[in-house]
Amino acid sequence: MFFLFGFGQHIKDVGPGEFRTCRRCNNHTQWRRVETSQRFTLFFVPVLSWGKKRMEQCTVCGESLHSR
Ligand SMILES: [Zn+2]
Repeated sequence: MFFLFGFGQHIKDVGPGEFRTCRRCNNHTQWRRVETSQRFTLFFVPVLSWGKKRMEQCTVCGESLHSR
């Protein structure tokens, strides 16, 4: 029997974020809101996920911040 499994961070785009000035690239843009979680998949089907966090990410350089 052969098992195909994966493990890693999953990033889900949950829509547009706020307009912010980035502390890294100094561009003032609308950030995107993402939800990150750790997940374990078996045959590409997620079976476990944990550590869900809401973040906002700069669309220019990828800098991210925790959001409320
Ligand atoms: Zn940036």
